[in-house]
Amino acid sequence: MSEKTAESMLAPTPVLSLDDKLGLVKRKIDKKSHIEVNQEGFRTCPDQPILFICPAKVYEKHPDNGDCIVNFENCLECGTCQVVCRAYVKWDNPQGGFGVSYQFG
Ligand code: SF4
Repeated sequence: MSEKTAESMLAPTPVLSLDDKLGLVKRKIDKKSHIEVNQEGFRTCPDQPILFICPAKVYEKHPDNGDCIVNFENCLECGTCQVVCRAYVKWDNPQGGFGVSYQFG
């Protein structure tokens, strides 16, 4: 094990991309999505906040047909989309044995 020097402890923290950060999250990804989006509800929603509030960028707008793409495998299970966009997002906990493994709970 290498010893930490004052110089190494003062080194700037590396800046990670979202993909790099998501790669640090321990999880088991199911084949079946635990998130469903009502596309008509999405299309008619003013401002479509779902595209901006998810910390893992699970929701994207398809550039051609305007559908909401759901990258459910990135979900961190924070629940924000259920607070903001409950009218057209149906979110369930991933089925047993799948999803994020949090270290302390
Ligand atoms: Fe994104 Fe959180 Fe909703 Fe998962 S629960 S899709 S991380 S907002």
